[in-house]
Amino acid sequence: MTVGVYPGSFDPVTLGHLDIIKRSSKIVDRLIIGVLNNSAKKPVFTAEERVHMLELVIKDIPNAAVETFDGLTVEFAKSLGATVMFRGLRAVTDFEYEIQIAQTNHALNPDIDTVFLTTSVKYSYLSSSIVKEVASYEGDISKFVPGEILPFVTGKIKNLRSVDNGNGQKQ
Ligand code: ADP
Repeated sequence: MTVGVYPGSFDPVTLGHLDIIKRSSKIVDRLIIGVLNNSAKKPVFTAEERVHMLELVIKDIPNAAVETFDGLTVEFAKSLGATVMFRGLRAVTDFEYEIQIAQTNHALNPDIDTVFLTTSVKYSYLSSSIVKEVASYEGDISKFVPGEILPFVTGKIKNLRSVDNGNGQKQ
């Protein structure tokens, strides 16, 4: 049985991520989506919230599951018995960073290979940061995130805005 890992922050999961999830789930027998729980990255959504959103959007993909991890991604992959790690490539700008990570991971554990899936053109501009930016100005993010999580994402970002006292400081 081939196990694959798709690691990332998913803060929040976007239609671009979901596209990679669907495609990679067809390549391996079992796909684990690894949610990086690293507070240094200062995510907007907690690890639990990110897992919750991912679980909602993968409910129709029977061979996919979600888990959190911290530390080295290769260690997480090894603990799952995974031999493949998926990453999405949007543009050349992703490439330089991604190849460095992939080569480092290969040096750390040569038994795990990184497989890059090129993004579908319609999602190539999409990132979690863009979603948060647009939502923070109350823009329409329905074309960016799966419908199942739309109310959750807009609700959370709205909440964050309402605790802002107007001077750009959080209360
Ligand atoms: P990071 O690991 O940098 O925190 P993310 O959680 O944003 O990244 O993304 C995880 C993976 O998904 C990365 O490989 C990233 O390149 C890929 N990805 C992000 N957005 C898209 C998109 N719109 N289309 C395809 N792949 C994407």
